[in-house]
Amino acid sequence: MTEQEKTALRDRIRAVQERVAQAAVKAGRSPEDITLVAATKMNDAARVQAAISCGIRVCGENRVQELLDKYAQQAYEGADLQFIGTLQTNKIKYLIGKVSLIQSVGSVRLGEAIAKEAAKHGVRQDVLLEVNIGREAAKSGLLLEELDEAIARLSAKNALSIRGLMAIPPVADEKTKNLSYFTEMHQVFVDILTKKYDNVNMDYLSMGMTNDFETAIACGANMIRVGTAIFGARSYQTASP
Ligand SMILES: *Cc1c(COP(=O)(O)O)cnc(C)c1O
Repeated sequence: MTEQEKTALRDRIRAVQERVAQAAVKAGRSPEDITLVAATKMNDAARVQAAISCGIRVCGENRVQELLDKYAQQAYEGADLQFIGTLQTNKIKYLIGKVSLIQSVGSVRLGEAIAKEAAKHGVRQDVLLEVNIGREAAKSGLLLEELDEAIARLSAKNALSIRGLMAIPPVADEKTKNLSYFTEMHQVFVDILTKKYDNVNMDYLSMGMTNDFETAIACGANMIRVGTAIFGARSYQTASP
């Protein structure tokens, strides 16, 4: 990374932190109550390390292989590492012990497989349940009507700790467009909170990305996942050396 790139990264991170703080205050909340997760996909170890040196405290990775490669390069040193992408059951074993939170538990089957693997390692894995709030066929995640049963079944697993909900709403053209999805998610979050399930702690409501995180915070998100606004547009070409 050139010095110029580092400066640009620092400026973008400051700008995002400032926007998060403003959105929090506007919603009558404290900026420290919002966890900013930097979505690090497609950004190499050097860029991730630079972001951490600029104040990023949580990294969210999407692909297991990419996470393992960057983990071996100490990309996440100094930050908390979480998994936010689609997860195949045969790859769970690579994440246990490395990630503090798996945000993308979109089925009972996946949750049970994580519990099994965590138990094997003698650890308790924190997870979020992913909700397919837009009911999109192409997306994974639990439908709202599946949520109660999923919580009942997964909260019975000792090796699993449900810490909240995550959602990726449909791509919004205008910023206000996901307002209804975010509002609905918050309502569901509060409903579950009120029901006080054993072994379930509704600590995190993870929603909001570069294009809509302010709306998400306004609607009650306390965890946002931001990539582009931090790292700039992702280049899906081959990574430069
Ligand atoms: C990439 C990604 C993000 C961040 O997206 P941006 O629009 O770049 O902020 C958030 N959540 C998940 C699950 C992602 O894969």
